[in-house]
Amino acid sequence: MKIKVSRKEHFNAAHRLFNPELSDLENEKIFGKCSNANYHGHNYEVIVSVLGEPDAKTGYVYDMKKLSDLIRDHVLKKFDHKNLNLDTAYFKNLNPTAENIAVVIWNILREKIDQKLELKITLYETERNFVEYPAH
Ligand SMILES: [Zn+2]
Repeated sequence: MKIKVSRKEHFNAAHRLFNPELSDLENEKIFGKCSNANYHGHNYEVIVSVLGEPDAKTGYVYDMKKLSDLIRDHVLKKFDHKNLNLDTAYFKNLNPTAENIAVVIWNILREKIDQKLELKITLYETERNFVEYPAH
């Protein structure tokens, strides 16, 4: 019997979406306001889900306090109140779209969580726009 447990957190961060190989005009055509040269912010909501069998001894799939600490120490401390393009190494050469941010968060947390558990990241960039990784 598998159960999915989730922890929701949020962080504020600035970004600029652009492809350095394109002109400012082309970037604006593709990314609109998100390509503003002087950056802009989002209130991101991140839902980290862990899926697996509850442990026979504890009844937990994953200790939520531990999950909360992991997210705080390895994701929020790196991204909260940061400029994703300038302040983090992850997006020096990677466009900080919601898609790419979700994959980066998944990669950071994947190595911290037992491989027998599945990990899924849901990232809301706005109240209405969100991405899920992996997609299934
Ligand atoms: Zn944006």
